[in-house]
Amino acid sequence: MTTINWLEETLKRKEDLIKTTQSFLQIKSVLDPSTAREGAPFGEGIRQALDFALGVCEEAGMTIKDVGGYAAHAEFGEGDELIGILSHVDVVPEGDGWSTPPYAAEIVEGKLVARGAIDDKGPTMAAIFAAKIVKELGLPLSKRVRFIFGTDEESNWQCVKTYFQTEEMPTMGFTPDADFPLIYAEKGLTDLTLCQTPAAFAAKALPEADGVQAKLVRLQAGLRMNMVPDKAEAVLVPQGLDAQTIAQRYRQHLEDHQLTGSVQETDGRLVLQMEGKSVHGMDPGKGVNAGTELIHFLHALTLDTRATSYVRFADRYLYRQHYGEALGIARHDEEMGPLTLNTGVLEYDAEGDAIFRLNIRYPHSVTFDEWSSVLSAHAAKAAFVLEVVEHLTPHRVDPNHPLVTTLQRVYAEQTGEEAGIIAIGGATYGRSLDVGVAFGPLFPGRPDSAHQRDEYILVDDLIKATAIYAQAIYELAK
Ligand SMILES: [Zn+2]
Repeated sequence: MTTINWLEETLKRKEDLIKTTQSFLQIKSVLDPSTAREGAPFGEGIRQALDFALGVCEEAGMTIKDVGGYAAHAEFGEGDELIGILSHVDVVPEGDGWSTPPYAAEIVEGKLVARGAIDDKGPTMAAIFAAKIVKELGLPLSKRVRFIFGTDEESNWQCVKTYFQTEEMPTMGFTPDADFPLIYAEKGLTDLTLCQTPAAFAAKALPEADGVQAKLVRLQAGLRMNMVPDKAEAVLVPQGLDAQTIAQRYRQHLEDHQLTGSVQETDGRLVLQMEGKSVHGMDPGKGVNAGTELIHFLHALTLDTRATSYVRFADRYLYRQHYGEALGIARHDEEMGPLTLNTGVLEYDAEGDAIFRLNIRYPHSVTFDEWSSVLSAHAAKAAFVLEVVEHLTPHRVDPNHPLVTTLQRVYAEQTGEEAGIIAIGGATYGRSLDVGVAFGPLFPGRPDSAHQRDEYILVDDLIKATAIYAQAIYELAK
């Protein structure tokens, strides 16, 4: 058996790879409903990028199929089993402040700079060229290899949902849309609301509180469930305590807890503001939740009855409870890590609904029903109803599955480095495949420029990734 030098094969095609990747990146494939039509549900730019990728595959001798412009595939090889490579041709909007035009795809100091360079058009083209290498070497395959190109990964994943309604699910596969070495496990993801209507609260018929110091009129914190809120605001009407005293206590509270905020008095009302630190909701302990921190101050006041129930619930179960400890739903999984709880949005309206919007991520050793029934029961006691807004179950491929072990071996051979496998709290495109992992393109230690200005992929990494993908395709499909 001759050994193939995959890097050398890639270097032979370097100029073509770079040029083709540049042309691909020069197509602005941002979601554009204004140019949507039949066959181009997400607009002309994305359609053009899809056609470009298909064109490169067709020219390389692959068979292509378009699925209504939602997704498309390109296939080669033969056999019953199907190896899938799932990537996406859409990009997030470019935003401002770029050093070079975002769709010029210029090479600056060894970096190919463009929107989509690392996420996900650069690696998509790397994988296509990897397949071209396997084809051009005339290597015998016992399986089919199929590129599946999605078109709205950056929004709602309608692409893969539509595609898999009619098309074959690969036996196994990978997505070049995250990190090397390999992501084999992803937590379950949920967006939940706990909502208490005025009627539901009234039905509890709680007695009016004695000695009310202030009435809570309104509270608002956060915009998104998957972010830690960095701003919160509450409006109080002083009753048993005068405004001066509450304001003074608030300033003292900020000082004691080393927090930033402000208090203003207008028309007999007090407006309390709290500043926190926003981080991604998958790791809420790294941030400072302005909403629950503000609640923690309010909890020390005697408020009107309904506000008391809202504040008490939040202070007991959500304040600095990043793992659901007080709710009794904490779970630490050796492989996937802890269940995490982020209170992304808090809304209270004395005349309307009282709401918490939560983002809870959970490992595979606990079921959704197990923990959500506990949460729901605690919520019900305070007249909150739990509603599931979004739920993705945990995704995991057995670490001993040949998909994982083969890709690990390929990575180690190509890089000379050990291929540790990763479990994450986020979601990758890999979970769209029944047996799917994320495999590259970002190498360990590289800053992640996806979705940032001056997004880039190092030309050397583009080449290295191509060599890795070429061997991976061959080893999986031979
Ligand atoms: Zn992506």
